[in-house]
Amino acid sequence: MIQYNGLLIAFLFFFAFQLAFQLALDLLNISFLRRHRHAVPQAFQGVVDGEKFSKITSYTEDSTRFGIVARLFDKAVLLAILLTGLLPWLVDAIKGWGPGFIGGGLIFFGVLAIFSHVLDIPFDLYRTFVIEQRHGFNTGTIGLWLSDWAKGMLISAILGGIVLVVLLVLVSYFEATWWILAWMIISIFELVILWVYPVLIAPLFNKFEPIADTALAQSIASLMERAGLTVKGVFQMDAGKRSKHTNAYFTGIGKRKRIVLFDTLLASHPEQEILSVLAHEAGHWKRKHVIKQLILLEAFSFVGLFILSVMLNWEFLYRTFGFEEQIRYVGLLLAPVVLSPLSYFLRPLGSALSRKYEKEADDVAVSLMGTPEPVRDTLIRISADNLANLAPHPIYAWFNYSHPPPVERIERLDAMREGDPRNVREQVSGS
Ligand SMILES: [Zn+2]
Repeated sequence: MIQYNGLLIAFLFFFAFQLAFQLALDLLNISFLRRHRHAVPQAFQGVVDGEKFSKITSYTEDSTRFGIVARLFDKAVLLAILLTGLLPWLVDAIKGWGPGFIGGGLIFFGVLAIFSHVLDIPFDLYRTFVIEQRHGFNTGTIGLWLSDWAKGMLISAILGGIVLVVLLVLVSYFEATWWILAWMIISIFELVILWVYPVLIAPLFNKFEPIADTALAQSIASLMERAGLTVKGVFQMDAGKRSKHTNAYFTGIGKRKRIVLFDTLLASHPEQEILSVLAHEAGHWKRKHVIKQLILLEAFSFVGLFILSVMLNWEFLYRTFGFEEQIRYVGLLLAPVVLSPLSYFLRPLGSALSRKYEKEADDVAVSLMGTPEPVRDTLIRISADNLANLAPHPIYAWFNYSHPPPVERIERLDAMREGDPRNVREQVSGS
């Protein structure tokens, strides 16, 4: 029986609070956008006209509304699973089959993972073939979506399965020290994945080819030299087979560093802008953002695993959610679920750090390009092409945005442009 004790009530309170908070932020953001729907920001005048701005508004509204419905559904399913006694029933059924602790844990998480992946199907289809379609982004087919889905399932089964087996083995053999061992093994595993991702996993979904345009490839090589970076390669990716969205990213660690440009980006930007995108990515490397973020992540997962190890021995947790005995693989699910409303409120920390890094990368891009002009033009074009919300509510952006809002980034670049070029250089090296 589920016990409506202090722990459960506290959990339900924070759970509802998080939900209400997220909803309030979304609604705040939408009403802010509606209020500003007729005032194209200064930086975008001449590029974004009234018609384009109303497209942006309707894309943001559609995506937000969809996000709200999907989130409410997810949360309702989670509550139903937790409060109806479904989990104790599942564990009893598994015990009846007699697979032991490790086998039992694998079945338990396997059943839940399949259930959640299947529930996600209609939402993913709707997002791709209704929302993205309606706003002119989707270029993919149902066949491609199906093969993506199958591959995604397979990869998460393999990778998730490996992590789960490690956890279950350690939990069952090392009573007190399992979490330290788990932290070490999982950290190494993450590094390995980061290292092999560009060559083993990403190619399952896309084709990667060296940049076809040789003149551009030359300019890129000389830019990277100026930045003092050895890059394994700059690739173009056939992103256009799924979507018209434009983007670029950097990936891999050590000698496997590579830059990936979407073919959609290459097709819609002039050379100087493409170079400034790369200069921005190079900025992330020069400032060692990947490594810094990795170290921070490992520190968080160390603390997280420690908390998990304490909660795993907390008999009250199991009883609260209707379990008569303390089956520790169940604790591996219950503890993170109970803590999730609290950990959600750590998000602004990560967002703020990421925004700081984005500004640093912009600064490096300006100094590599010698002028803020192309960096700024790229941002304007990317934002307009992707229908980025040009007027997010400041609190919404503070909480959720990994990048400073486009207008803020452009105003920063404009301030550099208007100043004395020497000031620019000082600003760049001083930040
Ligand atoms: Zn960036």
